[in-house]
Amino acid sequence: MSASTTGTRQIAMVLDLNKCIGCQTCAVACKSLWCKDEGTDYQWWCTVNTMPGRGTPKDYEEMGGGYKDSIPVRGIAPSREDFGGGWKFNHSEVFFDGNPEHKPLRVAGEQPQWGPNWDEDQGAGEYPNSYFYYMPRLCNFCTHAACVDACPRGAMAKRSSDGIVVRDEDRCRGYQFCAEACPYKKIYFNYELKISQHCIGCIPRLEQGVAPACARQCPGRLVFVGYLDDEDGPIHKLVNEWKVALPLHPEYETLPNVYYIPPLAPAPFNEDGSVNEAGSRIPPEHLESQFGPGVHDAIDTLKTEVEKARSGEASGLMDLLIAYNWQDLFPDFTRDPIDITWD
Ligand code: SF4
Ligand code: SF4
Repeated sequence: MSASTTGTRQIAMVLDLNKCIGCQTCAVACKSLWCKDEGTDYQWWCTVNTMPGRGTPKDYEEMGGGYKDSIPVRGIAPSREDFGGGWKFNHSEVFFDGNPEHKPLRVAGEQPQWGPNWDEDQGAGEYPNSYFYYMPRLCNFCTHAACVDACPRGAMAKRSSDGIVVRDEDRCRGYQFCAEACPYKKIYFNYELKISQHCIGCIPRLEQGVAPACARQCPGRLVFVGYLDDEDGPIHKLVNEWKVALPLHPEYETLPNVYYIPPLAPAPFNEDGSVNEAGSRIPPEHLESQFGPGVHDAIDTLKTEVEKARSGEASGLMDLLIAYNWQDLFPDFTRDPIDITWD
């Protein structure tokens, strides 16, 4: 057993992509909580991309990492530019210099050539059957965490209490082997502190019964959080019972613990303008390229349950996904963030 797989409990997330509106609230909630210090200007531990698209960092799916038949796959560490760099804005001109001409907020200096969600709402397909969907991405708290296994300093570990992947910044020497090994490219290099950094799963919140900022702030109420082994919780039901929540890129073999409800889309049009109710606007092969072969059964289950709900029949799955009460999204983490005490 590798160092990354020794946890006893595993916290997990399920994100229902059918409810994401791409508002970026999760990304901003995370950024404003964790990425304000020196060297984090370009770090967005949670990013929301338009899919299909090149992602963040740019073309991350071509950067390697993870495993193939349990053998580590060589990867590269994304550069600051691959993430889009940290943009500088004319804040002082707009907010502090009196702004007599009412100048708008703009990127100052060199104009950026890439950034998080650069290809916003572009998507794919031919009109009128074009399509896109949003995909929030963060660290996957992988069970077989390639980042942990790659660190020669033993600076990274999976916590046995919840399976969150943590880093001892005092041990980190900034070699970036973790960033090379992570196939999701969710590790950032802090160019000021010369260490790597990544999502910590909002541990200080979790430990006090408060949901991670991305989940709690989401106005779409699409982020479920809980322990994978809690058979009464939504995560277990969606992943193991309904089997509609799937890991992203399971072929990377890191066993991610962030799962996605794959996106449905409106039925496509036939050439004569009629609606092809049996058709699929998002190509099944695209969905399989993201979520693996299990996506087809998951989509069938989702469509069946949607139809049941539409025709007035009871659907336990739809009730679960709709989450009428926000507390049902993360039953173990419903404390108000205002009650957090910080040491
Ligand atoms: Fe490590 Fe990347 Fe998996 Fe997060 S997503 S646990 S950084 S391999
Ligand atoms: Fe999607 Fe929720 Fe993030 Fe908005 S806050 S982009 S709805 S996951």
